Amino acid sequence: MRVEEAKQIYLYKNRQNEKQILTKEKAITKRGVVWLGQTCNLDCYFCYFRDKIDNKEHPEHQFMSLEKAKKIMHTLRYVYVNNAVDIQGGEPTIYPDICELISYCKEIGLEPTLITNAIVLADIDMAKKFKDAGVKDFLVSIHAIGETYDRIVGLKNGSVKQMKAIYNLQKLEIPFRLNCTMTKEAGNQLVDIAQLAIETGSSVVNFIAFNPFADQQGKRNLIDVPKYSDLKENLQKAIDLLEENDIEVNVRYFPICMLNEKYRKNIYNFQQLSYDHHEWDFNSWTWTTRFNQKSNSDELDKPIPILLYNLNKYNGVDFSEWSKYETKKHYYRDVSDYEIFELMLKLFSADVPKELLYKNNAKLRAEKHTNYKKCETCQNCDIKDICDGFHGDYAEVFGMDEAKAIKIGKEITDSKFYIKEQLKVIN
Ligand code: SF4
Repeated sequence: MRVEEAKQIYLYKNRQNEKQILTKEKAITKRGVVWLGQTCNLDCYFCYFRDKIDNKEHPEHQFMSLEKAKKIMHTLRYVYVNNAVDIQGGEPTIYPDICELISYCKEIGLEPTLITNAIVLADIDMAKKFKDAGVKDFLVSIHAIGETYDRIVGLKNGSVKQMKAIYNLQKLEIPFRLNCTMTKEAGNQLVDIAQLAIETGSSVVNFIAFNPFADQQGKRNLIDVPKYSDLKENLQKAIDLLEENDIEVNVRYFPICMLNEKYRKNIYNFQQLSYDHHEWDFNSWTWTTRFNQKSNSDELDKPIPILLYNLNKYNGVDFSEWSKYETKKHYYRDVSDYEIFELMLKLFSADVPKELLYKNNAKLRAEKHTNYKKCETCQNCDIKDICDGFHGDYAEVFGMDEAKAIKIGKEITDSKFYIKEQLKVIN
């Protein structure tokens, strides 16, 4: 299917000239995330959870019970004080009790988004059920258009179904945003995807570097990964096109020097994620990412606070025991309620700013959990403190010769240095 043919399916009425309300304001996100189980109706080769999707016996494969999912939502709302949630599966539209879960989230003040491949939404009656249940919006994973998409996700006519789904969402006036994983094949279609977003009224487009995160770290075949510099031209064109049409664009997990100055406001590395209100709160994410909150057993962990990193002392209060990487003391299950209570009191008494906690946690995620690397060029770069560098697996295959030190004349430590100029949608 060519793009022109896709357009015949996805276009409801051209929304090119519709304007959205945008703002430069940035605050720490209050959005949680939940993984219901790694069961899916597609077979994307880049999936972060490839192994769990394939292995039906894996304790995270089968969906969890509705009762457990509701308990997690309750904790997100009333312990972590989140006000929105991204519901993921695998594929959440095939979770048997999804509509009841959506309604529950809505009822307790947790605006529900479904991160979906949208194949189920090709059936307009199904799409309507989600609307009636109270879904806030869908984040549709559109990784390419036409046969390229079908190949990436392993479903014949998958793109036709997805284009129908996008048509249905417009017809039913259900808001949606788009996610695009930038594989080598998708790299040539970034501008087409931008055009689709403009014509269909998608409020946001996220372009995401193809990274082997989660259970794929260190073992992914990197054949389909493009070089950062090979994406640059099309990515910049797509950003221009989208922004000319008042659509928010985010480029995730991309080394900041890889785009020209003008486009660096759109790049979200770990430190910038917390200032995207459609991204996940590190505090609640620390808890929901643990095995018990993702498995299909009935067990749940007690809520835990954000992991500390590089924070040994603040205002004279000693956090060294809690901050030591590798010990991850409060990540252990056997830590007592009293110790958690003591940590919370210490954080409160030391007046540790939330922005500092989130910045340090972002560094923990980049430096230790996802193995980002910096090279000698990075050491001469004025923004090295706010950039993650190159993903470790990528650096091993392609090296880091593409890195170009950015010179500003002083060392930048404000995570929002570039993104403060970016326009985001209000809702
Ligand atoms: S720290 Fe390294 S990867 Fe990041 S912008 Fe600077 S040179 Fe590029």
